Parts: sequence; C-alpha cells; structure tokens
Amino acid sequence: MTGSLLRVGVAGGSLAGLFSAALLHRAGHDVTVLERSRAGLARRGAGLVGQQDLFDVMARLGLNAVTRSGVEARERITLDRRGDIVYRDPTPQTQLSWDYLYEGLRALIPSGQYRLGSAVTAVRAEGGGAVVQIEDGEELAFDLVVGADGLNSVVRTHVAPGRSANRYVGYVTWRGLIPEGALPEPAAGVLLDRFAFYTAPRAHMLGYLVPGGDGQTTRGLRRYNWVWYRSMPLPDLASLMVECGHGPTDSSLAPGDLPADLRESLVRNAATELPREFAQAIAAESRPFLQAIYDYVAPQMSTESVALVGDAAAVVRPHRHGGRQSRR
Ligand SMILES: Cc1cc2nc3c(=O)[nH]c(=O)nc-3n(C[C@H](O)[C@H](O)[C@H](O)COP(=O)(O)OP(=O)(O)OC[C@H]3O[C@@H](n4cnc5c(N)ncnc54)[C@H](O)[C@@H]3O)c2cc1C
Repeated sequence: MTGSLLRVGVAGGSLAGLFSAALLHRAGHDVTVLERSRAGLARRGAGLVGQQDLFDVMARLGLNAVTRSGVEARERITLDRRGDIVYRDPTPQTQLSWDYLYEGLRALIPSGQYRLGSAVTAVRAEGGGAVVQIEDGEELAFDLVVGADGLNSVVRTHVAPGRSANRYVGYVTWRGLIPEGALPEPAAGVLLDRFAFYTAPRAHMLGYLVPGGDGQTTRGLRRYNWVWYRSMPLPDLASLMVECGHGPTDSSLAPGDLPADLRESLVRNAATELPREFAQAIAAESRPFLQAIYDYVAPQMSTESVALVGDAAAVVRPHRHGGRQSRR
C-alpha cells in the first residue's frame, strides 16, 4: 500500500473523523466519511478550549482563520465557597466555537464524500483491506478504515475484541450553555471574561465564555458554558437515566431530557454546595444536560488495515484538557 493512493473509509464524522479525513484527503487519498447522524452535527457542540496541537493541525489544513475567531478569558480564577477569589493566574486562554471548527473542517471534504445517516454496524478484514457494513446492509470495501466513532465505537470492537468496554469513573458532568446576558449579578461581574473554577471534596465546577451560536465573539452575543463535575455512583446514574426516559445503561442526557422537578433539585443542590456565582449560572440554565465520564485506552490502536483515533482510541477525562494553552 505504501506510496499509492488509498481508498479510506472514516467511521464517524465529528472532530477526530474530520481531522483524519481532511489530512488524508489533502494527502491525495480517496476518503469517504460515514457519519451515523442523519441531521448532521452542526450546533451540536459548545466551546472548545484551544490547545497548541489543535492550532498546529488547523494551520496545516490552512484553517488559521477558524482558530483566530475565539473568545478570550483574560485570566483564570479560583473561587472559595463564599465566592471570594482565592487564586489568580493571568494566563489568557482562547475558547473556540465547536460549530465553527466543525464547519471549517467539513468544508474541506468534497460533497458526496461525507455521508450522513451511515451508521457503521461491523468491520471485517478482507483481501488486505477492510470491509465496512452500514446499517442498511450496504457493504463498502476500503484499503484503510479509520475508526473515529467515539466513546461507543463499533470499530473498536474489531481492533480490540473483548477489550473494548469503557469504565465508568463514578462521576458525571452536569453542563449548561446560556446567553451571557442571562447571568445575573454578582455572577456576571465575577465570571464573564474569566476562566473560573471551584473545587470541593468530590465536586469540581468550572465555567467560561464561548462564542455565540453563530460563532459571534462580540460582547453580549457570547454564551457562558458551565461544567459541574459531581460524584454519582453507578446505580444512581442508572436510576437517573430511567427517570429521564432513557435506558439504564445510557450515559448522557441532551438539553430538554431532564424533567422539571429534577432540574429544580439540581438548582437547589447548587445553591447549597457552590459559590453563589456558580449557583446563579446553574439556575439560569433551563435545560441542563449531562455526560457521564468514562476511562478507556485501547490495548492497541490499529490492525493491518484499521486504525482508531479520538475517543474511539482513548478517552481523556475532560478536565485533563485544561492544561495551559501555548500562545499562538
Ligand atoms: C464536558 C466535556 C468537555 C470537553 N471539553 C473539551 C475541550 O475543551 N477540548 C477538547 O479537546 N476536548 C474536550 N472534550 C472531549 C471531546 O469532547 C472529545 O474528546 C471529542 O468530542 C472526541 O471526538 P471524537 O470525534 O473522537 O468523538 P465524538 O465527538 O464522540 O464523535 C463520534 C462521531 O461518530 C459518530 N458515530 C458514532 N457511532 C457511529 C457509527 N457506528 N457509525 C458511524 N458514525 C458513528 C457520532 O455520531 C459522532 O459524530 C470534552 C468532553 C466533555 C465530556
């Protein structure tokens, strides 16, 4: 295969899939992205804390403009329970729009080669390459298959049979994304334009501004993104999922899935456990959503003709992304 152009199938059309597809397409390979979602992923994401490796790849793809458009937090602060700032780190940090990143990358893939509604159900090695089976029974043969199908990857089960299960780590993130104008005082005065943290036993809270829904970075049009990590034993997570109309093994709640009484109880808990500023941010979100946190590292990242990338290969706990960003 070395030196010749390859037919490449990428399972999963989110960020890891798009990065792989865009780089392989740029190198001249014939790339097809197979994405399960029927509607597309636009507006699925919120903000992304930009790191140097992201800026490097975007520069290689000629997408510098995408990563220049972000919202800057001028400093990091840590609050205590009373809301006093007990630590300051003046390192500025940029939060990018997930949607803007997604759209920039997707525009690099020729139309027709990003196939929505194409859930991969199985992969098998065949004839020196790999065959991918799609939900509707269609089979597609490739020289190389890239598994970028996320946390519950199907491709992972081919690369690491019997060792593809995620491990729930015992806590979840409650999340919210609100117009910055929805933050009342004193929250607005303390939290806006800063990357703010609060840490307590078995809980961790953070928040930062991200661009508006259409990538706007101007004051007044940005959104405040908050993330509350809370301990939740597995049986409690399973009961919560069932109460929200999901299956007991589900791992996430989308905006609108949480019934009003459970949302009210979350807001009450925030008022008793968090600094007032963060509790106000939580109260301002009418449709909080949830993501359970898992660990996974594939024992091997590839077989002869199938490779894993992104969360399919290794799940990094989100608060491990929080390292200092290099300046561009
Ligand atoms: C609270 C939180 C905050 C985070 N903040 C950051 C951050 O600031 N910076 C950062 O870098 N990361 C952050 N992360 C992590 C980041 O979200 C993930 O690492 C990233 O989304 C993984 O991208 P991915 O493309 O591998 O997987 P995903 O984004 O999960 O995409 C997988 C794609 O595959 C599709 N798919 C699934 N199954 C199939 C199938 N069978 N066939 C075809 N398609 C399929 C899905 O529809 C989806 O589009 C955060 C995560 C959380 C939970």
